Amino acid sequence: MPMLSLSYDLHIHSCLSPCGDNESTPANIIGMAYVKGLDVVAITDHNSSKNCLSAQIVADAYGVCFIPGMELTTEEEVHVVCLFPNVPKAMAFDEYVNKLILPIPNDPEIFGEQLVVDEDDKVIAKEPILLINATSISFQEAFPLVESFGGVAFPAHIDKNSNSLLANLGFVPPDSEFNTIELKNRDTYPELIKKHDYLNKCRVLTNSDAHYLHDINEPVNFLHAEEKTPQAVINTIKSIWKGEL
Ligand SMILES: [Zn+2]
Ligand SMILES: [Zn+2]
Repeated sequence: MPMLSLSYDLHIHSCLSPCGDNESTPANIIGMAYVKGLDVVAITDHNSSKNCLSAQIVADAYGVCFIPGMELTTEEEVHVVCLFPNVPKAMAFDEYVNKLILPIPNDPEIFGEQLVVDEDDKVIAKEPILLINATSISFQEAFPLVESFGGVAFPAHIDKNSNSLLANLGFVPPDSEFNTIELKNRDTYPELIKKHDYLNKCRVLTNSDAHYLHDINEPVNFLHAEEKTPQAVINTIKSIWKGEL
């Protein structure tokens, strides 16, 4: 089957993330993706997927290819982007993770309100536990765990000097199972592969990690997939990189 080239932004925070802007409702994010003409878009809040159902409803109305996700904080405080083929799988993972977050209450004055919002921007809940904290899931555990929920995971912003594989672990475990990495800045790639041989075999994604609507990427980054569906994008991210974009 010929591969499609799809523009993407697979790491976006909504108003559910403590640091996410309250204007970044699921409906506004999907609307922005539609206006920008992004082929595939994911919502990846810290340790929660609870805004993905309303995003899916809006995405279905607009005809946007939406991937429900989460940015998991591992016990080492490494951020890992997790993507799922559908909302029920994402919500099953959400329920699993929810029990494993350090149970520290959120202080909305300091961190933000952590809003769960419906498809019409109506606030339906405020998440009481601070979502940014570590879970008891280790970095190495995260990848097979997400796969057991039908999804795929990749280490987030590995070139960032906090909450990243290279900042927090300092090395790539040789028995790692990921085939895709996320870089904030692609220019860091040549230096990183010199230092970390494992990364040579990884496909590189660049996402916005937007916490505000205006930070969502333009359709400038592309990946190849067999179809414009969440499952096909997940299959690509899971697969061994063969040198394509
Ligand atoms: Zn992050
Ligand atoms: Zn993020």
